[in-house]
Amino acid sequence: MQGAWADRYRKRWTWDRVTWGSHAVDCYPGGCPWRVYTRDGKIVREEQAGTFPAIEPGIPDMNPMGCQKGACWSHCHYSPDRVTHPLKRVGERGEGKFERVSWDQALTEIADGILDALQTSGPASILNLFTPEPGAAPARLFSEALGLPLTDGNAEFQDFSPGWHLTWGLFNPTSSMDDWFLAELTLIWHANPVYTNIHWYHYLAESRYNGGEIVTIAPDYSPSAIHADHHLPVRIGTDAALALAMCKVIIDAGLHKKQFVQEQTDLPLLVRTDTGRFLRGSDLAEGDRDDQFFWWDAAKGALTPAPRGTLALAGRDPALAGRFPVMLKDLRTIEVEPVFARLRRHLEDYTPERAGEICQVHPDNIRKLARKVATRKTKIFIGWNSGKYYHGDLMERAMALLLGLTGNWGKKGTGTRSWAVSGMDGEIFLPAKQGPGQEAAQRHIAGMIAMRRLVGASDPTLTEEMISNRMMQLAGDAPNAPGFPMPPAFLWYYQFGYKDRWNDPENHDPSFKRSFDDYVNEAIEKGWWDPRYAKVYRDVQPRVLFEAGGNVLRRQRGGQKLLLEHVWPKLELIVSVDYRITTTGLHSDYILPAAQHYEKLGHSMPSVHHLNYVLCDRAAPPLGEALPDLEIGFRVLEKIEERAAIRGMTEFVDMSGRRRSLRGLVDAITFEGALRDEEKRADEAIRDSAVYGILPEGTTLETLREKGAVRWTNWGMVLHGTSQASTIRPDEVHNPLRWHTEDKVPYDTLVRRAQYYIDHEWFLEAGEALPTHKEPPNQGGRRRRFQMTSGHNRWSVHSMNMTNDVLLNTHRGEPFAFLNDQEAADLGIANGEQVKIVSDAGEMRIAAKLTPACRPGQVIVYNGFEPYMHEGWWGQSDLEPGHVKPLGFAGGYGHLTYRILSWQPIPADRAVRVDVEKIG
Ligand code: SF4
Repeated sequence: MQGAWADRYRKRWTWDRVTWGSHAVDCYPGGCPWRVYTRDGKIVREEQAGTFPAIEPGIPDMNPMGCQKGACWSHCHYSPDRVTHPLKRVGERGEGKFERVSWDQALTEIADGILDALQTSGPASILNLFTPEPGAAPARLFSEALGLPLTDGNAEFQDFSPGWHLTWGLFNPTSSMDDWFLAELTLIWHANPVYTNIHWYHYLAESRYNGGEIVTIAPDYSPSAIHADHHLPVRIGTDAALALAMCKVIIDAGLHKKQFVQEQTDLPLLVRTDTGRFLRGSDLAEGDRDDQFFWWDAAKGALTPAPRGTLALAGRDPALAGRFPVMLKDLRTIEVEPVFARLRRHLEDYTPERAGEICQVHPDNIRKLARKVATRKTKIFIGWNSGKYYHGDLMERAMALLLGLTGNWGKKGTGTRSWAVSGMDGEIFLPAKQGPGQEAAQRHIAGMIAMRRLVGASDPTLTEEMISNRMMQLAGDAPNAPGFPMPPAFLWYYQFGYKDRWNDPENHDPSFKRSFDDYVNEAIEKGWWDPRYAKVYRDVQPRVLFEAGGNVLRRQRGGQKLLLEHVWPKLELIVSVDYRITTTGLHSDYILPAAQHYEKLGHSMPSVHHLNYVLCDRAAPPLGEALPDLEIGFRVLEKIEERAAIRGMTEFVDMSGRRRSLRGLVDAITFEGALRDEEKRADEAIRDSAVYGILPEGTTLETLREKGAVRWTNWGMVLHGTSQASTIRPDEVHNPLRWHTEDKVPYDTLVRRAQYYIDHEWFLEAGEALPTHKEPPNQGGRRRRFQMTSGHNRWSVHSMNMTNDVLLNTHRGEPFAFLNDQEAADLGIANGEQVKIVSDAGEMRIAAKLTPACRPGQVIVYNGFEPYMHEGWWGQSDLEPGHVKPLGFAGGYGHLTYRILSWQPIPADRAVRVDVEKIG
């Protein structure tokens, strides 16, 4: 072929450099290795690498990992909303008027703002919001170096699974993606993986070739329902009733796995019939433990302490039925019965007929599905949708009960999922080492092991997972702790304007008899939450907001209106660090330009789903004056140090009351400059991870540049590895909780078993000791016709790719809400027409997209559109009251205690009551 146009076409497919790349964002589980092609210093395209080996014989490999966002990410590099120079606001906040300023000016003014806040209001007034974007985290380096508060992301982005935590003492038992191939039955429930797990959905499809079956349980005929064998169209918010009806069918038919139930769960533990509380050692003898629980051993016909150090039954036969007399230490005789007996009575309310009425699922289909779950290796594929319902904890507890009765965890092809990350010890521990080099890493790890021994010495029955969790609970208190993690609920309550909303009885479930204030005050007064964050925000107002890689005005449940009214006026400094202009950026004082993913060194999401370190290499220099996030982090810190010296500030008192110096900060964190360079620092972290046993021996940045990715060889000490409670094996897929099922290691719950009965005083009061069904409250407005549901969208990772022109061309190019076509016709709404959606919290304008797949009474707005894409800039979160279930404040009870990313109050944003109105 000859001619200029043909040459142009050929030139398009030429390059002068190829590097490994990925996307260091929260596209969880991410982890896709890409080849990135560069010509003349500019990225011209990317291509899936497809280089992962198969792990276990007979199970397909993970290739080709990648999604359509990743396939055109390079377009985001050169998009018109890319920020390439530091910007300073010149108009009003939100007016969109900025001017270019030098890095030095921006950093000087930002550093002064931070020091002003530190000097006059203390560290609690400086808010650093957690973003799960691994690539952006280094921009918050100053916060870590100063031990400033770090709000907990699992409340902010709300990907917590409270029901899993209540059951297993962890929110995230997560198998590797290839384990999904082995499921004989997959229930897609509160998820839409065809949209949201594009890069590994193939395992679900492939499980069908392996003889598996897929059932999608969703109110709408979702894209994932289309590809399933069956669809159960459950009414919005009634999933717990469906799960409990299946549990009843299973128990009535004697299909439950008796030994699994006896060994792994609390169902044989004895409960006092007089108080509804577990029988405890402290009930029976002075000085006995409050966390010693009991069985009735049917083999001996005797009351027997349930062992705390093992799950092994060792010949005992804990009764699942009956009532037994027990004499208390005050010589009174009471009756006790196993949880299982209470459960059977409780389930009388959940016959398939009764549940069928609640869920609008035919009773025969409930029976059929129950029998399948009971007889097959079953997995429940959830996203992070159930936890976003007000009563999502109850839904998840009911689902976990279904899995527990049928022995469906702790073996390949079973279980469920959430998000779990690991393999980051090299970078997390780096600032805590005494110096550069791997000998320092070895010394550090020896110190960590000694500390663990110390923690473990208090109780020989503590497991590795329990010790790990105790260490995480102490994370903010360690000397020179890198940041002070805190659940943001108290900050929101006192300073973000939520107090009134949360006390509004309309948003509250009627089964809670007390006001919201009552719960919060009681939780604080009983000391269930650390006063350093639970009490401080009664008085301390936020003055600085530093948002790196996040977009709080889009994300915050409760809406930007609330924040703009209640928080923004208090803030003297708002900084957005990003590679693009977000809605938050538009309302900020400064926007600092960050490098894009192919312009810096890093790694993709370190997820348990793929178990790999996946390299993001630098393919091209950052555009304009943009800088890698790590460099921004260093420069902010350097400027703080410089300005503090000029102002004569030498130290401050941190959140824990310790004096912290404002001198030598950068030297300390870089080991006198030895690790100031991005490349050297990345290499050090990788080498350290090899020393810690997470990566194969000898792994370096250089070896990673050859392969692009390397599979973990072990869990680290931090994050969610140990809590997977299974060993990573080189030639096997990973399935969590096997230490419990195979080695009989106890769980980290109050009763040291999977716990379905929560006898915390608040749960008893609310009638939620056992999993139960409750209707979603009327948040949004009592008499509104629709319930709004959501989920991740298909075209963007959150809002990051929403303005990518390639992706805009794959959908309507504007925000839209799905409505049922016939219902829309009733309202006179045409396809594509702009409508107004209204709740008590606010309103937004959006295009209607009509489909028979949407359930009547349902509005689906997939999450991620930038508010500024809507007329008036009011988006989806402005409809959400952002209510929190008061039981999230419960504490002082075994595993109901805070550690980062875990148990805490989380907002609900599903099933919000709205009206849809025709405009004009
Ligand atoms: Fe993979 Fe995430 Fe990149 Fe998509 S955005 S290709 S899922 S790493």
